[in-house]
Parts: sequence; structure tokens; C-alpha cells
Amino acid sequence: MAKLSVEIITGERVVYEESDVDMVVAPGADGALGILPSHAPLFTLMSLGEMRVVKGGEEQSLAVFGGFLEVSNDHIRILADAAERAEEIDVDRAEEARERAESRKTEGGQATEEMMRAEAAMRRSMVRLQISRRRRGRQQQQQSGGGSPQGGS
Ligand code: ATP
Repeated sequence: MAKLSVEIITGERVVYEESDVDMVVAPGADGALGILPSHAPLFTLMSLGEMRVVKGGEEQSLAVFGGFLEVSNDHIRILADAAERAEEIDVDRAEEARERAESRKTEGGQATEEMMRAEAAMRRSMVRLQISRRRRGRQQQQQSGGGSPQGGS
């Protein structure tokens, strides 16, 4: 049966490379995008959010922040503005970023541009915190012997 290969690259590094993948769900600009093997060629903008990679019944989660996604010949290439594997997310850093953004937003007299920057920083931190939280939840579930590792939301 056909499989996918997946590559996620940022300006800094190769964040993720995997082959024999069964399914990918990525945050497309127009909503969640599910990609199975033999998908039609595609080139699209990405939003920010969780990306899930399913391989052999195991699921991996990543945070991706904008960029482009291309599907061609069962190969998915993502050029992201920023991306992290779930296990790479520094929760304390994300929490600090969230608090900073929160206080910038509530400070009076902010220019619109500054408000938008704070809002964007807030959204990035929320994505990171949500993915870390889900990962911890899944780990706890596995440790207690219950549930499948695929329990997404
Ligand atoms: P911060 O204010 O903490 O830098 P940010 O949202 O402004 O957060 P980005 O501009 O999205 O950060 O990313 C800058 C670089 O830092 C990227 O390489 C990104 O992968 C990395 N990064 C940002 N926050 C985290 C985090 N909480 N854990 C791991 N890597 C992070």
C-alpha cells in the first residue's frame, strides 16, 4: 500500500523527516487538511496550529506556524515560518510568552500594529501550550495503561 513521506523545514533547520507515513492532518489556511497517500498534487498556504502525523498506529504531534505546504507524488514538504516537535516545546517559555503578550494587550494606548503583534504572539503561545498539554495527557493515559495513543483532542 502507498505511504507518504513528510519533511518539515524552517529557515533554521530540518524539524522533521519521516517516511512510511499513513496520514497527515495539517493546519491549512482554509482549515484542517487531511492528507492520505495518492493525494492530488497541492500547493497551499498554512495557518498556525497542530500538525498530526500518523504512522503504524502511532501518532506524532507538531506545532507549525505558517508557511507553505506542497503535496507531490506522496511527498509532503512544509516550509514553515517556525515549527517544533511536541517534545521540543519549552512549556515555561511558552507560558512566559503568553503572559508577556497578555500584558502588552491590556496595556492602554497601544498602537494597532503593536496590538496585532501581541495578539499573534498570544496565538503562538496558545498553540504551543495546547500541544504540550495534550502530549502530557496522552503520556499519562499510556502510563496508566488506558486509551490509545491516538486520542487527538
Ligand atoms: P518567544 O517570545 O518565546 O521567542 P515567539 O512566539 O516569539 O516566542 P517564534 O518567533 O514563533 O517565537 O519562534 C522563534 C524561534 O524560537 C523558532 O525557532 C521557534 O521554533 C522557537 N521557539 C519559540 N518558542 C518556543 C518554545 N516555547 N519552545 C521551543 N521552541 C520555541
